[in-house]
Amino acid sequence: MSTSGAGARRVAVVTGAGSGIGSACAERLAADGNCVAVVDRDPDAARLVADRITIEGGVATAYGADVSDAREVTATVDRIVADLGPVGILVNNAGILRDAMLYKLPEEDWDAVIDVHLKGAFLFSKAAQRSMVEHRHGRIVNMSSTSALGNRGQANYAAAKAGIQGFTRTLALELGPFGITVNAIGPGFIETAMTRSVAERTGGSFEAMKERMAAAVATRRTGLPADIARAVSFLTAEDAGFITGQCLYVDGGLTLPGVRA
Ligand code: NAP
Repeated sequence: MSTSGAGARRVAVVTGAGSGIGSACAERLAADGNCVAVVDRDPDAARLVADRITIEGGVATAYGADVSDAREVTATVDRIVADLGPVGILVNNAGILRDAMLYKLPEEDWDAVIDVHLKGAFLFSKAAQRSMVEHRHGRIVNMSSTSALGNRGQANYAAAKAGIQGFTRTLALELGPFGITVNAIGPGFIETAMTRSVAERTGGSFEAMKERMAAAVATRRTGLPADIARAVSFLTAEDAGFITGQCLYVDGGLTLPGVRA
């Protein structure tokens, strides 16, 4: 694990960083000068992202971990601190979909979604806040969603993403006195494997879905992972210390009255 130059940098942990929004956040945080721990349940995907960052001149190390497994999370954060130093930035981004209307939603798919999104954010935040409290500095960003406001076929996901917002506000209150800010981002439609899987599952083409979503929002385009990474970069900046407990919707205007798709 080569992490030369890590001493002077903040250590940024991004979960679910093997693809999509998470990998864009990892790349952006590395470009911002941070030393990035690229965490994904697929260690090979994490390694590819860390290698890409390193080739581009950044500092990154890959870790394989399931965010919903308490023992794996504790062990991974301990390894990150030992390898790279105290955690300064945490982006709780790992996520899955198990969409179904309520009457068809199996209990295991409710549990799986709550476990990855909500319990995963809890476990990683709890493990990471120790170094942040000790050093009186930290930035936590939790990935919510416009689905937190309600979305047909996503009772489990919407509950998890709304829960993330309450979790965020509560951590902001608890951790604020220690110099730690905690915010959420609510992405709208972002072009990733996750949204592509929705198109595939519903039998439509991804291109048609993107066109429909673009037509419904103020910006007349769909979002890219880099749009979310930009917001993460803003909220995790050293001088963003007075912004806390917020949910920033990055959705091209999807949540504005009158344009919700
Ligand atoms: P994605 O491309 O599917 O990326 C999610 C990543 O999380 C994948 O690498 C996935 O690994 C990983 N992951 C899943 N379960 C995990 C676990 N238990 N432990 C560790 N890693 C795990 O999806 P995305 O679109 O970038 O989504 C990233 C986040 O943004 C999610 O929280 C999602 O809910 C949120 N979001 C996305 C959109 C959107 O339009 N794309 C909108 C609103 C919110 P595998 O590939 O192995 O599953």
